[in-house]
Amino acid sequence: MLNVIRIPAFKDNYIWLLRKGASAAVVDPGDARPVLDLLDREGLSLASILVTHHHADHQGGVVELLAHYPAEVFGPAAESITGLSRPLSGGETVRIAACDVEFQVIAVPGHTLGHIAYYGAGCLFCGDTLFAGGCGRLFEGTAAQMADSLARLAELPDETAVYCAHEYTQANLRFALAVEPGNRRLQRRVHEVTRARASGLATVPSTMAIEKASNPFLRCGEQEVAASARRRAPAAADEVAVFAALREWKNSF
Ligand SMILES: [Zn+2]
Repeated sequence: MLNVIRIPAFKDNYIWLLRKGASAAVVDPGDARPVLDLLDREGLSLASILVTHHHADHQGGVVELLAHYPAEVFGPAAESITGLSRPLSGGETVRIAACDVEFQVIAVPGHTLGHIAYYGAGCLFCGDTLFAGGCGRLFEGTAAQMADSLARLAELPDETAVYCAHEYTQANLRFALAVEPGNRRLQRRVHEVTRARASGLATVPSTMAIEKASNPFLRCGEQEVAASARRRAPAAADEVAVFAALREWKNSF
């Protein structure tokens, strides 16, 4: 079992730190300070940095971390990643020796064109592609690319722990409920998440089973989801068009 520690950063980012003995790896360190503080406090040495995509809130801390630790930097070959020493494009398996774990690298274009996700030891680190209750915005890719990327992630086992990079769940579920008001599992999740947030608790990680049951962006083939999308975009014929209509709707929700 992977020991994963949540490090809150900025307003609503999560940096994920993987720990094994005195060694650590970190996923999407947008800010170095909270990572360095934790490493110091726990007496850990940073061996690896994993980056999912090029946005500053995911890699902005890399330079400062490298000034303190000679870490290897994994990230998308197709994007500009500071200090990148292990360029990846999807389809590879990488071994993070310090944490004794292997990750499958999955290409998930959509939010950005080179975006990658890391899956291993029952954990998925998916950056800004799949969120708890939602998905990332289409800054660079097309709706078809993002829908395809999400479909690939949805093939992972139900028990997969989904570690996304933001605490957006409550707002995402407000939208999900507008799309699919009749979904009982979604209604229950809204209550669970509302209660957790009121107590100041994080709602990430979720699981793939929860996402498949209540995240509208993974449910474009469901009748109620498609019907809601078609009220906004009557011409949305197939699942990709339904996905595109939902993504557009969410942008202005
Ligand atoms: Zn991003």
